[in-house]
Amino acid sequence: MAKMKAVQVPKPGGNFEAVERPIPEPGRAQVRVKVEACGVCHSDVLVKDGLWPGLQYPRIPGHEIAGRIDAVGADVTQWKVGQRVGVGWHGGHCFVCDPCRRGDFILCKNGKVTSLSFDGGYAEYVVVPAEAVAAMPEELPADEAAPLMCAGITVFNALRNAGARAGDTVAIQGIGGLGHLGVQYARQMGFRTIAIGRGTGADKQGLAKKLGAHEYIDSDAGSAGDALQKLGGAKVVLATAPDSKSISNLVDGLAPAGKLVLVGVGPDPLNITPLQLILTRRAVQGWPSGTSKDSEDTLLFSALSGVRPMIERYPLEKAAEGYAQMMNGKARFRVVLMVS
Ligand SMILES: [Zn+2]
Ligand SMILES: [Zn+2]
Repeated sequence: MAKMKAVQVPKPGGNFEAVERPIPEPGRAQVRVKVEACGVCHSDVLVKDGLWPGLQYPRIPGHEIAGRIDAVGADVTQWKVGQRVGVGWHGGHCFVCDPCRRGDFILCKNGKVTSLSFDGGYAEYVVVPAEAVAAMPEELPADEAAPLMCAGITVFNALRNAGARAGDTVAIQGIGGLGHLGVQYARQMGFRTIAIGRGTGADKQGLAKKLGAHEYIDSDAGSAGDALQKLGGAKVVLATAPDSKSISNLVDGLAPAGKLVLVGVGPDPLNITPLQLILTRRAVQGWPSGTSKDSEDTLLFSALSGVRPMIERYPLEKAAEGYAQMMNGKARFRVVLMVS
């Protein structure tokens, strides 16, 4: 049986190990993707540390996959061998539960997640359900496309569904893996874009401006919510950094009927009083990335508008090093494993 290079986690909390595994065969409704690049996402910690109930080991992590279709199952009609594609967090849905019957596939009650429900993209090949695949424009290089499959789609899809219209003020909290993409998307979607970061160093403020922010707020300099209100208040605040205390403060920076949208996962509770929401009809909402078609939209919009992630590249064999760089917060801003 032909073998492939892969990096797997042998058990919950175990170290990454470079291994040879049999190249998997696609089932009837699956496709096999030859992986070119795979992003390292903070959610890979779920695989590494065994934080996902029922996860089977050994497990190959990785849900920011860019590559080409290499083989298709007998029942697959919509994909062809050789097509450039991406696979993200959304790893398939059941088509029969109530949310699926309403066409809301990302809310599927039996939804699969790439690398949690089946092996992911820290490998030369990956097999995924056909409905989990997104077509990828030729002009996007695989290394820059990979992070768009989770980080990119999450902020893109949250922003385009948050209710802001062209010209509205939109604030992006955090300028990291998610936020540096959020600032670019907000600008390219036609919003008055305010970046909220920590510190005034030229690196932060200058970077925010370079990414397209019209204004920059330093959340270390005082209440960012007040500062945002002084700038007119935001129709939407997209919270990308997992800092529940500073996120709670931003409710006061929302315009009337404004919405705080959460995509960064922090462990601490938000501290928001009913009165902060009621009289001004403000709302707080979470947003769960999107389907493969949403990923496709993300890729097309990025190709069209020039939105690109800032990345650090590592060879597949150095996945542990790349993962450590991401976990210690030193990566600027997404780590990508170069597979082939
Ligand atoms: Zn992710
Ligand atoms: Zn379903």
